[in-house]
Amino acid sequence: MDKIVNIWNTLTLRISLEGIKPEIWRRFVVRDDISLSELHETIQTVMGWTDSHLYSFSIKKTEYSDEKTVEDLGRGKIVDSITVRSLKLKKEDTFKYIYDFGDDWNHILKVESVSSPEPEITYPVCLGGARSCPIEDCGGPHGYEELLNILFDPDHEEYESMQEWVGPFFDPEEFDLALTNDLLLNNADDDQAEDLKKLSREHMYAVWKLAKNNQLDDMPDEDKLLAKIMLEHEDEFFNNFEFADVLAEREYDPESEVNPFLHITLHAVAENQLKEKEPIEVYQFYNSMRKQKVSHHDTVHLISGMIAPLMFYLIKGHQEFDIDLYRSLLKKCKNKRPDKILDIIDREFESYFGE
Ligand SMILES: [Zn+2]
Repeated sequence: MDKIVNIWNTLTLRISLEGIKPEIWRRFVVRDDISLSELHETIQTVMGWTDSHLYSFSIKKTEYSDEKTVEDLGRGKIVDSITVRSLKLKKEDTFKYIYDFGDDWNHILKVESVSSPEPEITYPVCLGGARSCPIEDCGGPHGYEELLNILFDPDHEEYESMQEWVGPFFDPEEFDLALTNDLLLNNADDDQAEDLKKLSREHMYAVWKLAKNNQLDDMPDEDKLLAKIMLEHEDEFFNNFEFADVLAEREYDPESEVNPFLHITLHAVAENQLKEKEPIEVYQFYNSMRKQKVSHHDTVHLISGMIAPLMFYLIKGHQEFDIDLYRSLLKKCKNKRPDKILDIIDREFESYFGE
């Protein structure tokens, strides 16, 4: 959950394919806290490639690629562990992206600007571009030129076979910005689902089994915290945890029942924030509740009550976690009577979501 309070910037990039005229290019904006592997995925989507070949980046004289390629070539660094931010790219910097080591599609990327994120915008986003992506496996820029010549020459002996190969919908001059952004958004959905894998019942089940066997010491810290929280909720949720694998298909009705897996995940988020005192308001709220004799567990529930709607909004609305609202809510509730707080939260979110 660190991401929620991280400050990150955005990079506006212009990418252009070498050796083809008129130019095939795109302009797009990414967060700088993504890894190079995520940048690769974004490039694939904005350009229109199918991500079926090897690739590498060449940035400031260093080559970056996926683990297997780095191993096979015996050189370079692995993309997953490198964030864009760590490369300290500045405006006007350029770097290379090569896709398909057979066809050798060389892309030049230029940093057009580095700036703060705009509210309301989900990144990555494509701003513009021109011309369709070449057909994959056509033999690089030279092969593509030949292919286009044939496609525009009905008398050519390969005309029909090439038409059939590229299919009826291929238009080399077309670039669909709306479609590109839809595809980027779908990828973002997948990423968020990935972020929520902590909610995976299988994972929870594994954590539960270790917790029950007193094997907390063997776990990574994050799981250890989950295990501890699961044990605290053993009385309430024993069956859900014990049979998590069997119940993997079961959905919880948010109106009438508690999703135990979500419940303990929110516990973990709140506990982490308290431990880090980040944001500081969560710590102040906690102290104020404890002074009013509210138990640790109940205080964490109140904090979860504020986090949960914002998390849902984040997942469903493609928005950032609204840290400002969260802070102001904590501040507002700090001096209220504990039994009034859930009502205050409800009312606040009603006006926030405009329902
Ligand atoms: Zn609880």
